Amino acid sequence: MQSCIFCKIVGGEIPSAKVYETDKVLAFLDISPVSKGHALVIPRQHFATAMDVPDELLQEIIVVVKKVAKAVMEATGAGGVNLALSNHEIAGQTVPHAHFHVIPRHAGDGLRHWPQGKYAEGEMKGYAEKIKAQL
Ligand code: 5GP
Ligand code: ZN
Repeated sequence: MQSCIFCKIVGGEIPSAKVYETDKVLAFLDISPVSKGHALVIPRQHFATAMDVPDELLQEIIVVVKKVAKAVMEATGAGGVNLALSNHEIAGQTVPHAHFHVIPRHAGDGLRHWPQGKYAEGEMKGYAEKIKAQL
């Protein structure tokens, strides 16, 4: 897709700090890192969200995510990594080209997890049933 910023990175129209690539997958550093070494892993082909990516390609992507995550931890001395993926604007996706974040984590880095709620009595089972019915 011509207007997509990540397609432009894939096409070499705009520069990026690439760290790994295969014929179908590209990993490069996020320009505005949560912490230094924060990487993004994307399919070269344009798909808007992870749910739009064909299963076989998604499998290739997650294997690259695993490889990059280990390398990021080693290279940055991070004690852990968050693998994050936002789908659709409401979930915080700002670039509509499917991408995994590999975010190195350090003690005291201030990054907070999302707030957690509670179910009313019997409500969780109802949600589980509704989701199961869609699978
Ligand atoms: P999202 O908000 O969609 O989960 O993640 C998009 C990410 O892409 C953001 O973290 C943002 O910093 C990064 N990003 C946006 N534009 C560019 C760019 O031109 N180059 C690079 N390397 N990263 C970008
Ligand atoms: Zn794209």
